[in-house]
Amino acid sequence: TQLNASTLGSLPSAVAVPRYDRRAVAPSIVHIGVGGFHRAHQAMYLDRLMNQGEALDWGVCGVGVLPGDQRMKDALDRQDGLYTLVVKHPDGTLEARVIGSLVAYLLAPDDPEAVIVQMAAPVTRIVSLTITEGGYNVHPVTGEFQADEPAVQADLAPGAAPSTVFGLVTEALVRRRERGLPPFTVMSCDNIRGNGDVARGSFVAYARLRDPGLGDWVEREVRFPNSMVDRITPATTDADRELVAEAFGIEDAWPVVCEPFEQWVVEDDFGQGRPPLEDAGAQLVADVEPYELMKLRLLNGGHQALCYLGRLAGYEYAHEVAQDPLFAQFLAQYMDLEATPTLGAVPGVDVDDYKRALIERFANQEVRDTLARLCAETSDRIPQWIVPVARSRLAAGGDVALCALVLASWARYAEGVDEQGEPIEVVDRLRDRLMAVAAGQHADPTAFLAQRDLFGDLVDDERFVAAYTAALASLRERGARATLESWVGVLG
Ligand code: NAD
Repeated sequence: TQLNASTLGSLPSAVAVPRYDRRAVAPSIVHIGVGGFHRAHQAMYLDRLMNQGEALDWGVCGVGVLPGDQRMKDALDRQDGLYTLVVKHPDGTLEARVIGSLVAYLLAPDDPEAVIVQMAAPVTRIVSLTITEGGYNVHPVTGEFQADEPAVQADLAPGAAPSTVFGLVTEALVRRRERGLPPFTVMSCDNIRGNGDVARGSFVAYARLRDPGLGDWVEREVRFPNSMVDRITPATTDADRELVAEAFGIEDAWPVVCEPFEQWVVEDDFGQGRPPLEDAGAQLVADVEPYELMKLRLLNGGHQALCYLGRLAGYEYAHEVAQDPLFAQFLAQYMDLEATPTLGAVPGVDVDDYKRALIERFANQEVRDTLARLCAETSDRIPQWIVPVARSRLAAGGDVALCALVLASWARYAEGVDEQGEPIEVVDRLRDRLMAVAAGQHADPTAFLAQRDLFGDLVDDERFVAAYTAALASLRERGARATLESWVGVLG
């Protein structure tokens, strides 16, 4: 059955469908960056509320900002915004649900004005974002907004039709201000420490470039709640499309698959109300920081600790690496010995239980998360999730052998050839530079670490350099597995 509004009633009974009247749902949230994660997480929470008879005034109008989002628009338009979410349990059980909370979708490159009009409309109360870690346009070390970015400069030109998230959102805020409408809340759901604060920094900086008074107004009037978001959501594959067709009889151009685990901790700071997310299982708290540090340093950092070493050793999937006892032991040691000591107390959470559950989640072979996904855009990830652990350990006089090995695994990976001699497709906005630097590291072993825009001054710390160069030499001479055997053995 082709999925759309008219076929919802005729889907197999094993598939849960919206029990609410979607025509009555008001789109008061504009979400920018409708990818897999938003559709497995925020849209799912809202759909759950709507099925409980709540939040019908908190529907989502999706927005794509990149030309590549045309594919998502085509898929969603054909399906009236509906899509299938398939939760994959470790025992092979599948749970399918059609999500109905996404009630409209606009593509900014087609019609930027329509996107601005929607955000400036009185109905809009929240603009939420999953635009990736790189989407905030901040320098990885200084954290400053990069005003010289050509797309930003183009948006700032007088009379320009905006193409960036900054240009679009700011123009909508300007119109609201002119009309005496209160601003919407900007809610980042990306995997960045202090994601709300980072979003505030970028949107205020952009607004200041447009007009200093406007920047002050955005800083004063717009709320940017921080959040911790969690649910492993791999990119959808053709095999997933076939699975949805075969197991559930649904023709869906772009279903989403994900693990059973879900978590959302949100700072309760909204200017114009919010959906009752606590009724759907989210936690609304005054301070998100302890939760997000735990999640970013253990889950996201843990993925980084495994993915380059695993790829070098010839693995393709996250579960394969997590099920390999040597890699699992390395992950456990990285988390216990180096990452956990940098965390504070996390109210209401047993961190040991959290770590045990993490290793099980990584090992879920049904999810089929790829190392290629985890290894992408490292420049936006390792500086956020691993480098701060290294710094904090150095400042405390603690061991850095394992975080140095993770950094070295990236440097070795960036050479672009795995240990079987197969080429590695490096996906990174800094790819050309990083691969060129990595190619020269046999002669200069700290060349990669000397990229100060990524690693700050780690290259000036003798203790760190010693740990890093030892790890890199071992990776280059003996490979990932032998290196892990000695590193894990030394500590274990
Ligand atoms: P995806 O590739 O499915 O979607 C990415 C979306 O971001 C697309 O809509 C794309 O157009 C948009 N985007 C990318 N760069 C942009 C930019 N510069 N400006 C505006 N939009 C931009 O990826 P996904 O799995 O949905 O993940 C998106 C983000 O969600 C991640 O980067 C992460 O911060 C967060 N997240 C993902 C997961 C996960 O398991 N996938 C878990 C937690 C958090």
